[in-house]
Amino acid sequence: MIPSEEALQALRDALVVSPDNLPLRRHLAKSLVQMGRYEEAESNFRQALAQEPDNSECLLGLAEVYLYQNKNSAALVVVEQLLRKNDIPAAVHILHARLLVRAGNERLAAEAYREALEIDGQARDPELSEQLGIEPGQSPFETAFDQDEGRLRTPVDGGPSDPMEYDIERPKTKFADVGGMEAVKDEIRIKIILPLEQPDLFKAYGKSAGGGVLMYGPPGCGKTHLARATAGEVDAAFMSIGISDVLDMWIGQSEKNLHELFEQARRNAPCVLFFDEVDALGASRTDMRQAAGRHLINQFLSELDGVSSTNEGVLILAATNAPWHLDAAFRRPGRFDRILFVPPPDADARDAILQIMLTGKPTDSVDCRQLAKKCEGFSGADLKGMVDTAVEAKLRESIKSGRLLPIGTRDLAAAAKQVKPSTREWFATAKNYALYSNQGGTYDEILKYLKLS
Ligand code: ATP
Repeated sequence: MIPSEEALQALRDALVVSPDNLPLRRHLAKSLVQMGRYEEAESNFRQALAQEPDNSECLLGLAEVYLYQNKNSAALVVVEQLLRKNDIPAAVHILHARLLVRAGNERLAAEAYREALEIDGQARDPELSEQLGIEPGQSPFETAFDQDEGRLRTPVDGGPSDPMEYDIERPKTKFADVGGMEAVKDEIRIKIILPLEQPDLFKAYGKSAGGGVLMYGPPGCGKTHLARATAGEVDAAFMSIGISDVLDMWIGQSEKNLHELFEQARRNAPCVLFFDEVDALGASRTDMRQAAGRHLINQFLSELDGVSSTNEGVLILAATNAPWHLDAAFRRPGRFDRILFVPPPDADARDAILQIMLTGKPTDSVDCRQLAKKCEGFSGADLKGMVDTAVEAKLRESIKSGRLLPIGTRDLAAAAKQVKPSTREWFATAKNYALYSNQGGTYDEILKYLKLS
């Protein structure tokens, strides 16, 4: 039964009087989950865990609310802690399976889900059953995911002690395929491309290559696209690592696998190593205080520092939508000492992006300039959505009429009306951090963008 607002308030009031009452707090947290109030539920589970850090029920609850809020890597850290315990309930394996599915690793997800069903035949999760093609009582050989189709390739014989192999791309995209972002392109040129191309010049000035560039800003504004184009620009290999990929490794093997990831990049130098959602890694150190998370971050930092092997020829880029969650240790010199704000594209950049996106498509003198003016607040991804919508509509019309119809300004303007600019929400959060926790002027660029400074 979903609790009423009054019942919730009564629980909150009771906790004001008796803040250390763990069962009461747990009950409140669970009620909040039922009502979809995940942030408040998270805060209560954390308070409960501050009192009793090993409480399995609260750990499970916390992992669940992380999952519901898409904080996948944080959820995985907690689940890994639960998996180290004895008598693991089926619910933990179910949660693990759901996280592995999100990380794209269906093979391990299927293993986790089977484990859950073995412990408790009633634990069937309809969504997982459908996604993984597994039903209770089914033989392990009958599933749809006997082959690993995840982004990370698994060890050759499947044993946890074998080194991981990561996908390596050879991108063809260049800076010219990225509209706008001129300031960020310049920084990347100076900071990481030129030292690679002209090492002697840099050495002559006593400057060595090293350290990475961290990009932050609203989602969909081209951070990943630019990282990929950086590799294309210097004809380098490209490895893109989501932090959930890193945390997704075998328990107890994470540091070794992280080291292997850097080693693979070094073997394939020149190589752009791109970490998406890098904040998730930083957050786990400060927020979670879990041994596993901390070791992983320390390993990450020492790999960045090139402690055991040189990072020559390895260009390190990272991106985050939430720089405020990033551990301060990441910003030290030689690590991510260049933190660049990637704003939404301005009118000129939107014009350039639209032109790039329409290249090679049948068009009829589209006025990109005029369209760009109408798309205030659009991210690059929003513009892509708009172009895709116009293309699909035109394609349908062409099929109906039996001839190829070109895309015109009006088609794109009509598509633009269907897109909701996605960057405003991000600025609502960013503004608060920029105004109230802007140590060392880290977020001055945001204030400048919002015309608040
Ligand atoms: P997130 O923070 O959500 O990972 P992001 O900033 O990394 O987002 P991308 O994934 O690079 O954004 O952008 C999404 C898509 O939008 C890209 O694949 C590309 O097609 C398009 N796009 C975004 N910015 C640009 C740009 N400046 N020029 C051309 N295309 C762009």
